[in-house]
Amino acid sequence: RRKAELEEIASLKSAYELIDPVKVTKFTDFPLSHATKDGLRNGKFFKPTEIQVAAIGLALQGFDVLGAAKTGSGKTLAFVVPILEILFQERWTPLDGLGALIITPTRELAYQIYQVLQVVGKNHQLSAALLIGGTDWDFEKQRMGNVNIVVATPGRLLQHMDENPNFESSTLKILVLDEADRLLDMGFEASLNAIVSQLPKERQTLLFSATISKSVKDLSRLSLREGFVRDASVHE
Ligand code: ADP
Ligand code: MG
Repeated sequence: RRKAELEEIASLKSAYELIDPVKVTKFTDFPLSHATKDGLRNGKFFKPTEIQVAAIGLALQGFDVLGAAKTGSGKTLAFVVPILEILFQERWTPLDGLGALIITPTRELAYQIYQVLQVVGKNHQLSAALLIGGTDWDFEKQRMGNVNIVVATPGRLLQHMDENPNFESSTLKILVLDEADRLLDMGFEASLNAIVSQLPKERQTLLFSATISKSVKDLSRLSLREGFVRDASVHE
């Protein structure tokens, strides 16, 4: 089992540099783990959308990604698939702590992302949790010790960072800033700055937005690694 998994990981890794978005028409054209491919099939996701084609390969290659694409274009899977693959590559287990953090503006959006993670991540040995407020603080606080993927709204996340000793972000590999334009429109700029400043610098960051305004550009300069950023934006 372990040997088969290590072989699968090695063969996926060696295929990343060969990804050619022009030739990708089905999810199975990407080098993805069996677990993720099954999860995508489980969710009846067969053909990646344009933003998914543009972003997934770059994220698998280890770049920070800036991805602008209009609402409804499929930005969620553009980061959910890389998160699952990157943690699978790292052979992440529930004992390894926080591996990925997704920040999104509203509870409703957080819940939708969480549901996509449940469907597509079904066959992975990873745990996910929502930190969105309006739920039991003590329950959330307890649970944080062994969660691998967190989907959070900024206010509640900051509360955990400041007040919950079980919230430990030093293991973080991937940060996703989802719907960045709305995060900023809703007045979360200061919270985001406080959050990002507390996260490990050696991480990969994926930033998605429906539009790229000046404030989104400022946020991307602050959160993405200079020189390691690729633009996956879809313009129409
Ligand atoms: P965005 O974040 O860009 O607004 P979402 O990720 O919420 O878009 O996706 C919008 C809708 O499209 C959702 O209902 C989702 O299930 C569907 N969807 C996303 N990607 C695909 C795909 N590759 N194939 C079929 N449906 C998809
Ligand atoms: Mg979205």
